[in-house]
Amino acid sequence: MQLDDHAEELASDLGVDKEEVTQDLENLVKYSVPIEEAKQSLRRKYGGGDGGSATPSSKNVADVTPDSGNVTVTVRVLTKGTRSIRYQGDDQTIREGELADETGKISYTAWTEFGFEPGDTVTIGNAGVREWDGKPELNLGESTTVALESETLDVPYDIGGDADLIDIESGQRGMNVEVEVVELEERTINGRDGETTILSGVVADETTRLLVTDWNPRPELAEGATLRLEDVYIREFRGSPSINLTEFTTTKPLDREVEVREDAPQLPIAEAVGSGGLFDVAVVGNVVAVRDGSGLIQRCPECNRVIQKGQCRSHGQVDGVDDLRVKAILDDGSDAVTVVLDRDITEEIYGGTMDDAMEAAREAMDQEVVADRIRERIVGREYRARGTLSVDEYGANLDATEFDETDDDPASRASDLLREVRA
Ligand SMILES: [Zn+2]
Repeated sequence: MQLDDHAEELASDLGVDKEEVTQDLENLVKYSVPIEEAKQSLRRKYGGGDGGSATPSSKNVADVTPDSGNVTVTVRVLTKGTRSIRYQGDDQTIREGELADETGKISYTAWTEFGFEPGDTVTIGNAGVREWDGKPELNLGESTTVALESETLDVPYDIGGDADLIDIESGQRGMNVEVEVVELEERTINGRDGETTILSGVVADETTRLLVTDWNPRPELAEGATLRLEDVYIREFRGSPSINLTEFTTTKPLDREVEVREDAPQLPIAEAVGSGGLFDVAVVGNVVAVRDGSGLIQRCPECNRVIQKGQCRSHGQVDGVDDLRVKAILDDGSDAVTVVLDRDITEEIYGGTMDDAMEAAREAMDQEVVADRIRERIVGREYRARGTLSVDEYGANLDATEFDETDDDPASRASDLLREVRA
C-alpha cells in the first residue's frame, strides 16, 4: 500500500480530514517510524483506539495474533530492557522484553514506565498487537492498564534474562551475561547525532564468543576485563547475534575467572542453520561442490565486491583487484552451508600462492583452471569448517577462519560413534 492509501484508510476509519492525516503520516515515516506503528499512533491521536473498535478480549498468549485487535493477557514478566529511541524527533525511553503464560511467550514494547519487573505476574489490559519480524508483539501505550497479581503464574521459561552466550538470540532485550572482553577497539561512526565514538569487539564465556558494541563507551569495558553486563539488547549484525550496551546497561566486575572457550562449539549443520546465525561455530561435512565465483576472482577497488568482466554493479567499469577465494558447499546429511574461504586458506588448499594461480591462468588463458584444480582437490572429501555463520536472504554462509580436512577415516568414526551410543 502507498502512503496515500494508508492515509485514505485512516481518514475514513477515524472520520477526520485526509490532508491532515497525510501530513502526520509523512512526518512519522520521515523519522523512520514503521508504517503500522505510525498508523497506530495516529489512531491514538485522533481517538480511534489502538486497533479499531473491538473491545479487548482476554486471551492466552498462544492465541494472540496481529489480527487480535486489542487484548487483555495475564502473564509473567520474563525480561525488561530499557532503551532510548528517537520517535517523532524526540528521544523517548521505552521498555521492552518478553512476557509469558503457560501457553507461550510474546515480546512487548512499553511506551511508558508501568513499574513491573521480571518475575512479576501482571494482568495487562487493552494492549495493542502489532506484527514485528513476522511475529505478534504487544504494544503497551497510554490506554493500556497494568495490574499486579498476587498469585504467581508458573511458566515454562527462564525468568530474569540471565543467559549463556550460546543461547543468545537476535531480538532479545533486557539480557544479562557474564563475560570476558577478549577484543576491543574504538570506532568512529556516523550516529543519529553526527560523529560519535563507540567501542566494538568480542566477548566470550564458557560456551562461545560473540561480537559486542558499546554505544555509550565506558572505561570498565576493556580488554581482559571480566564483567557481568546487565540490561543488554541483542541485535543481528551481519547475520549473527551481537551484544549491545546502552546508556542503561550496568556493568559489575566479576569475582571469578571466566574460562573462555577457545574452540568453537561443533554443531550439526541443520542445528547451526536453525539457530539463525552464530558468530563462532564449527561444522563437519563433505564438500559436495565448489560454486561458481571461486578460484581467481577480481574485486572492485571501491567497494570490494566481486566483479564480472571489469564491471562493478555500483561503480561501472573499474580496474579490478585480483583475489582468491572459494565458495564450497559443505553437506553433513542434515543440511548444507556455503563455506567461504579467504585468500590465505584458498592458497593452502590450492597448494600455491596467488602468483602461482595467476601464472596458471595466464598459461591456460582461462582463469577457470584455478577453480577446477580446487574442485579436484576438495570435492568429495570431508572437512571441518569453523567461522561466523550468517543466515539471511543470501542463504546460509559460513565465513571460515579454519578449514581442515578431517583425518579420521569413516571406519574409526563409526566405531567412535558406537562407543558413544553404548556409553
Ligand atoms: Zn564497486
